[in-house]
Amino acid sequence: MENQKPKIDISGAPWAECCGGPQFFEITYMFKRISAIISPSGKEEYLPIEMVVCKKCGKVPAWAWSRYPDLPEELKSQEKTILTSSGDLFSHK
Ligand SMILES: [Zn+2]
Repeated sequence: MENQKPKIDISGAPWAECCGGPQFFEITYMFKRISAIISPSGKEEYLPIEMVVCKKCGKVPAWAWSRYPDLPEELKSQEKTILTSSGDLFSHK
């Protein structure tokens, strides 16, 4: 059987950053409480949502925010990568 995955060269791609540099990240879960009214089972349920968390600050890194449009502000990393007017990447705590 052939491997259908496209091969890409990631050697030149940068590591994802948080807290001012490349970090270890881990996958963890948050849960959405599904009320009995909208739950298909008619009972309250908790639905697991996979999240990316920076191991240094324990919060969701800025580059992953777009995956979770309703992410609570208090779970967002304080790190903000801002493009300055001169075009330099500027890390702002
Ligand atoms: Zn961090």
